[in-house]
Amino acid sequence: MNYKTLTINTALPAKPRARVLIIYTGGTFGMVHDAEGVLLPFDFSLILEHLPTLRNLFLEITVISFDNPIDSSNIEPEHWLMIGNMIKDQYDKQDGFVVLHGTDTMAYTASALSFMLHGLSKPVVFTGAQLPITEPRSDARENLITALEIASAHGGGKPLVPEVCIYFDYELLRGNRTKKVESMHFDAFSSENYPPLAKAGVKIDYNLPAVLPSRGGSLGLLSRFDTNVSILKLFPGINSSTVEACLHNADLKALIIETFGSGNAPSAAWFVERLRKAIESGLMVVNVSQCPGGMVIQGKYETSRALEEIGVISGGDMTIEAAVTKVMLLLGQYGVEKAKKLMREPLAGELSIA
Ligand code: ASP
Repeated sequence: MNYKTLTINTALPAKPRARVLIIYTGGTFGMVHDAEGVLLPFDFSLILEHLPTLRNLFLEITVISFDNPIDSSNIEPEHWLMIGNMIKDQYDKQDGFVVLHGTDTMAYTASALSFMLHGLSKPVVFTGAQLPITEPRSDARENLITALEIASAHGGGKPLVPEVCIYFDYELLRGNRTKKVESMHFDAFSSENYPPLAKAGVKIDYNLPAVLPSRGGSLGLLSRFDTNVSILKLFPGINSSTVEACLHNADLKALIIETFGSGNAPSAAWFVERLRKAIESGLMVVNVSQCPGGMVIQGKYETSRALEEIGVISGGDMTIEAAVTKVMLLLGQYGVEKAKKLMREPLAGELSIA
């Protein structure tokens, strides 16, 4: 996969306030309508035509663009690796990073990067837009300008938000706590289980006690993903053929079950026994709730006690986006046994300790 470095002439100020790298991956932010009205990515080197105020931020901005910008529904772990490598390669040169990404899978990519970038002590701010920057009513301009402000914000000589986050519609959210919840309105993201890291109004109000402390040391990049995982969403009426179809896969190493409420599942013997058999033969099974807010508490109800007894791992208050990217990275990096242990521990602020 290739990428190109674009020199965007922002009329470099004599003494820039900070240096920020923009990584342009694609998404609605930079799309234009073709003759048939279908949205396609545009040439990012034209950004200054659409956003001349970039020149007034007193920043030294470098842009790296995917050679072929993509709709984020096409994102794969190899793209996460590419973004991670771009950040690692430029880490010492830049004060912060802004990743322009489609909104559809932004929460997955931000979650993945939060686990991959080990020892991160600089801001990595994801943003995008619900309407292309070429549209008069686009949210792209405000999202990018404020994301750049946040990526370059310092206090006492240190970055204010040294973690992977998503800035969208006046709120800064922790990346691995975020879900896309809206496809038509501008408030596309929400983080039910963790407060915003900042709110942008006339000024940007940072919620500094909620920000992850800088982890210090040098930046490491964990890069191996194992995609032999699956997600099984439960629903009233789910039958054994459906569950069997999911588990009848010799390569499967981990299964996330999306359960009801605080982690509840049918207590039918066929269901519990099938999961028990799978766990006994080495499968890692993780319980994540379908509720965007609250947490899994196995054993609170009779309908989750059996899951605890057969060795299902509680996903606590993790989002499904955080859980699936964490599972893939832990499996790829450490194998099943260590992954089972680390799944229960917060690695990048994605999980509250109950
Ligand atoms: N389909 C687009 C994408 O995720 C939607 C967006 O960017 O808002 O790439």
